[in-house]
Amino acid sequence: MFQNASILDLAEKYKPLWALDSVGSLLEWDMETYMPLGSSKPRGFTIAHMQLLRQERMLQLTDLVSNAEKSSGLNDPEIGFLRVLRRDLDYYTKIPPKLLEDIFRTSTEGTVVWREARRKSDFAMFKPYLEKMVGLKRQEAEKLGYKGNPYNALMDRFEEDLTTDDIDRIFTPLRSELKGTLAKVLSAGKFPRTHPLEEARYDEAAMKRVNDDALKLLQMPERTFRMDVSTHPFTTSMSIEDVRITTRYEGQDFKASLYSTVHESGHAIYDLQIDPSLDYTPLARGTSLGVHESQSRFWENFIGRSREFIRRIYPSLKANLPFVAPYSEEDVYRYVNLAKPSPIRVEADELTYNFHIMVRYEIEKKLIGGELEVAEAPAVWKDLMEEYVGVQPRNDAEGILQDVHWSEGMFGYFATYSLGNVIAGMFYNRILKDLDLKATVANGELDKIKDWLKQKLHRYGATYSPKELQNRAFGEVYNPHWLIKYLQEKYLA
Ligand code: MG
Repeated sequence: MFQNASILDLAEKYKPLWALDSVGSLLEWDMETYMPLGSSKPRGFTIAHMQLLRQERMLQLTDLVSNAEKSSGLNDPEIGFLRVLRRDLDYYTKIPPKLLEDIFRTSTEGTVVWREARRKSDFAMFKPYLEKMVGLKRQEAEKLGYKGNPYNALMDRFEEDLTTDDIDRIFTPLRSELKGTLAKVLSAGKFPRTHPLEEARYDEAAMKRVNDDALKLLQMPERTFRMDVSTHPFTTSMSIEDVRITTRYEGQDFKASLYSTVHESGHAIYDLQIDPSLDYTPLARGTSLGVHESQSRFWENFIGRSREFIRRIYPSLKANLPFVAPYSEEDVYRYVNLAKPSPIRVEADELTYNFHIMVRYEIEKKLIGGELEVAEAPAVWKDLMEEYVGVQPRNDAEGILQDVHWSEGMFGYFATYSLGNVIAGMFYNRILKDLDLKATVANGELDKIKDWLKQKLHRYGATYSPKELQNRAFGEVYNPHWLIKYLQEKYLA
């Protein structure tokens, strides 16, 4: 842990900032779970002021950080601590308050209009807001500075040091290999496109019992973790000792609820297994969105959608959801692993999910790079969907208007979903060398998998950048080969 005197001093002065972040997480958690619907205005006011307070306190650390950076012989957590603080300070010093405010306002107004535009499937309504946001994001990229493509500056905010060169290197083989795989899987028909269980309606209280059993199977801690309900499931961490997830209940197609629970638990396991010595520092979080998503995807897909996991959860399904009774374990396995090209990203299966990301990535990169006009984007979307997934959205609601991210100005975010899949593939390949994964899951010894992940990854928190962490754990960075291998083995065996 920290030993250097100037680092220890800095860590002490950082504590109020940690507390502000913790309160901010709690406010956002409350906003999505229990806050009355009409209370968003005062909540928005509070969050905005807390962010200003945070910025002010952060900037007060500038000289201390600069001095500490001159120290020699720092250990890894000390170096990581300074790296994370410097990234924060950089953002606050490079982005003028006026630009931040413009982005914030355009996002607040744009999100309301986007919601209405999606409901009416009317892209023209949202277009002026998207144009404004793209302009602001281009300014942000210029202020932040970049090498190569301006889009790199925006991706770096979500995944440190990620560049379009990295993504092109990942997506090129992923695209060609998975297109061929998808075609074979669809023509073989072993993995169906639809299943009667998709239509079965469940009782929410009964489904909650299934989800609680899934949490038991995952050995989630009872004292420092809890699960609530929200429309869009998420995970939030107030501290290593207070991590919360949400799940959703739509009343039909139970796999959506079950796998939201398992997915978010994967995020929570990462947060809960960070070394306790890092708590109250900015290292007590996942190192990047991509690495975080690798944990949720690993548990959701590689573990949760395996035959062995289905075997463990099947008794609970049968006990709580009477309509499951006529179906065998193998039927349920097919139901949770449909091969179903869809225009909607959040409904995508493991084979087609990354294509949805590629569509968004190519459009974002060109919009920010000035190679594409907003007005042309819906048509490009349709063409790319046809080319990659083989389906065309029937309208803009099913197409370019489906995600909230662009209205909120989150350009550079989407790629991290695919990085999550790619990194999960790398973990899967490595864990197989140390554990008989099938037997471990079949025996319900999921703590062994958790321990493995803790040693290789979780305990470090944000000590290492995502690329450093991968190099330490695997000796390679964002290698898509392992994901391709896993998917081909799963779907073509
Ligand atoms: Mg996630």
